Amino acid sequence: MSGEAKDQKKGGIPRVALPEDARLATLAVREGLPPTPWGENSEALFLTSSFVHPDAATAARRFANEEEAFVYSRFSNPTVMMMERRLAALEGTEACIGTASGMAAIMLLVMGLLKAGDHVVCSRSVFGSTIKLLQGEFGKFGVQVSFVSQTDLAEWKAALQPNTQLLFAETPTNPLTEVCDVAALAELAHGHGALLAVDNCFASPALQQPARLGADFIIHSGTKYLDGQGRVIAGAICASAHYIDNVFTPVMRSVGMSLSPFNAWVVLKGMETLGIRMKAQTDSAAQLASWLEAHPGVERVYYPGLKSHPQHELAMRQQGGQGGAVVSFVVRSQPGADDGGRAAAFHVIDHTRICSITANLGDTKTTITHPASTSHGRLTEGQRQSAGITQGLIRVAVGLEDIEDLKADLARGLNSL
Ligand SMILES: *Cc1c(COP(=O)(O)O)cnc(C)c1O
Repeated sequence: MSGEAKDQKKGGIPRVALPEDARLATLAVREGLPPTPWGENSEALFLTSSFVHPDAATAARRFANEEEAFVYSRFSNPTVMMMERRLAALEGTEACIGTASGMAAIMLLVMGLLKAGDHVVCSRSVFGSTIKLLQGEFGKFGVQVSFVSQTDLAEWKAALQPNTQLLFAETPTNPLTEVCDVAALAELAHGHGALLAVDNCFASPALQQPARLGADFIIHSGTKYLDGQGRVIAGAICASAHYIDNVFTPVMRSVGMSLSPFNAWVVLKGMETLGIRMKAQTDSAAQLASWLEAHPGVERVYYPGLKSHPQHELAMRQQGGQGGAVVSFVVRSQPGADDGGRAAAFHVIDHTRICSITANLGDTKTTITHPASTSHGRLTEGQRQSAGITQGLIRVAVGLEDIEDLKADLARGLNSL
């Protein structure tokens, strides 16, 4: 692993002694840093802003980046490093850099890679704040962006310009679970001399490792499945050691969208159970999706694990045969209703007693939301219609409750429409 070679060259921070062929479930629990001389078994939380040097000459070498050591927690902290190493291991990249939030990871990505006049091609279906960040905030600094279909590769190709430096994708998307072909996008990007970033929030590395499909940068909101228990805001970029060390860390040093050690520690411990949580939540989501598809009160279900999903085969190939934990569905419109199904959707949401009515996801607690009036509420009705976000659409991010209780929770409203 070249990450290891890098650490040896700098001579500073040791690695955990793990067998070279240790598998993902082992790395999820064991990768990080060796314990301190106290021999703690659970990783330590280093709440310190700075680190002390033995003498002035050593301090000078460390500040000049000639010797790897912890210096200042804006850009280096042992707890944050443990989280970074663990996430890099899960994603199969050489390195990783933690950030204050998922959005901060995307900001760091763009600040590190692009300058005024550069062009990005991005799926139209990505997270709403990503669209606002690329178009609104970075538009002010002269970065150009074209939005294209999530699933039509020809549109991505047609949008490439001589100044296109970056392709940005997210798969599956929120809330319609549209899947794009990561390997095909990587090939398209590289053939054009551009790079591919993939937001891997929804599938998480437990289901899908975009770097293995050719993606150059993996974006994470640690807030979602990595923490997995709805506690903290966190983010990260996974990439080669070259990009992390030479491109993103210098930006982090000057800009400071840093991940707090406490939040890093929560995500670090969350990753230990990522695999079994994703498996359990995905199994429940698959059961719920089949059950919803058969329910007379439901018009349509969006779930990559269902045969009816337009990219079912691609999703199964790309996501290790698993559909993920997010299911969306359209409530059957009621005779005479002229609200596009909004009242019926509200009825179903309001009759739940277990699901949390919140737009967050990736929690052990199942969450339920009405995208048209929350996450996509700032769009015009026309924009929503063309994006497929109808008034009857409900999104459920399945947690760890008993699946029979979740079915009963949704049946209460669906059966009384
Ligand atoms: C939540 C989310 C983000 C942003 O992450 P924050 O941690 O909330 O900043 C980015 N992308 C996707 C797909 C998300 O779901």
